Amino acid sequence: MRTGLYPGTFDPVTEGHLDIFRRACSLVDRLVIGVAINRDKGPLFTLEERVAMVESTCGGIAKDLGVEIVVHPFENLLIQCAQDVGATVIIRGLRAVADFEYEYQMVGMNRAMNDDIETVFLMADAEYQSIASKLVKEICRLDGDISKFVPAEVATALKAKYAK
Ligand code: ADP
Repeated sequence: MRTGLYPGTFDPVTEGHLDIFRRACSLVDRLVIGVAINRDKGPLFTLEERVAMVESTCGGIAKDLGVEIVVHPFENLLIQCAQDVGATVIIRGLRAVADFEYEYQMVGMNRAMNDDIETVFLMADAEYQSIASKLVKEICRLDGDISKFVPAEVATALKAKYAK
């Protein structure tokens, strides 16, 4: 039974994340999606809102692919969270070169803390590769069409946030 941990802020979850959920399911028997509290990043959505959006959008994937998906909020060290949930693999998505330097450092430091946990990088389908939560929020704030980037219920939640 192989458990993978896919951590992120998911503020909010996008089609890029969903594509990585699906791909990760082919590598593990149980996928834990770690939703980071990330107070420093000043998320738009509360932790509860982010968890609820991930839960409702990944339910269909778990059913279709026959993999158990668990959504797990966390505030502690990533490597500690991986140990807590029994993950032997950390899954990260890679987009452009810009992601690489940060991820490279993370792998090095996580490995220094626990060399038994491997990090695996996945790339989303070309259609979703350029999607970033930060840009989706900006487009929505400026009244652009975000329907290609996020599931319908996330688009509704985003529009409601900016309407306030
Ligand atoms: P972070 O705040 O750590 O960037 P995110 O919620 O933005 O977390 O993303 C979580 C993970 O998903 C990261 O590994 C990020 O690289 C990956 N990711 C986000 N969007 C995409 C995408 N469009 N394609 C592939 N990976 C992605």
